[in-house]
Amino acid sequence: MNRVSLHLSDQLPLTCSRKGTCCHGNQVLINPWELASLANEKKISSRDFRDQYCDINGIRLLFNGVVGFNNQKSCSQYIENKGCSVHNGRPLACRLFPIGRQIQENKSSYFFQGTNFPCLNGCPEVTELPLLSVEDYLKGQNTQIFEEAQDAYLELVQNLADYAFILLLDTELAKSGDVLTLQTWRKLGSLSPNEMTNYIPQEWIDLYTIPELSFSENTLSTFIQHHFESIYSTIQLQLEQPLTIDQIRTKAIELMALALFAAHSIGASTKDLVEMWIETAKQNGAND
Ligand code: SF4
Ligand code: SF4
Repeated sequence: MNRVSLHLSDQLPLTCSRKGTCCHGNQVLINPWELASLANEKKISSRDFRDQYCDINGIRLLFNGVVGFNNQKSCSQYIENKGCSVHNGRPLACRLFPIGRQIQENKSSYFFQGTNFPCLNGCPEVTELPLLSVEDYLKGQNTQIFEEAQDAYLELVQNLADYAFILLLDTELAKSGDVLTLQTWRKLGSLSPNEMTNYIPQEWIDLYTIPELSFSENTLSTFIQHHFESIYSTIQLQLEQPLTIDQIRTKAIELMALALFAAHSIGASTKDLVEMWIETAKQNGAND
């Protein structure tokens, strides 16, 4: 699909008419910090928020509300004629909309999807409202801390993949002539996130999506540090056990599945990521 690149100084009809159009029939993926933020807003635990309001094991908001715009169901957090019930804790995708954000070669940039400004589909009245620069819009939506969280989870994705690499390349697995690991990694890249979870121990999924950590918007770095430490220490403990070649392969596949599941939760292309990682593994002695 076409994308229009945006500069921070671009002036656009970014004053929201608050009709709630984009809270219907949309897809909102959430990372674990955003899930904790939403749960905090609802004053319930992350586990309860996941179980009541999310699907795919907690990485996507359910859209099971009242039917509205274009006969589509609203987000589970949307209250008819009122709006978002978790406005202060809403995730990055909602703060950014209609803008999208991508990371390429460690640089972030903004865009909007399609050739026409997305709000015009359901809220044509936005053209009557004041124009805003992209920069002012982002400031008004308080996106910075949520962007930092997104970037931190991208780093976690790479680190989880690195664990899978170590198992494949720094053990006897690659030297044994194994081809099943890379073949399964490739298959994982084209699976839906729900299908991916069949390859991940539930304990790891819970560890990723619902860490038992207290949430405050001012303590992102502490949350991230404790979350990542708990994931790494659990993985390391399991990898310290003596493992057979078959068990090493299973762990390398489980870890890659977790990396890709986490990548999906931040909106990354799992297919592109896994193909890039397979190429790297092959260049370092793995067999396909
Ligand atoms: S579509 Fe645009 S103008 Fe309409 S409610 Fe969503 S962000 Fe606001
Ligand atoms: S979290 Fe709030 S802003 Fe985001 S889609 Fe749901 S109701 Fe709309």
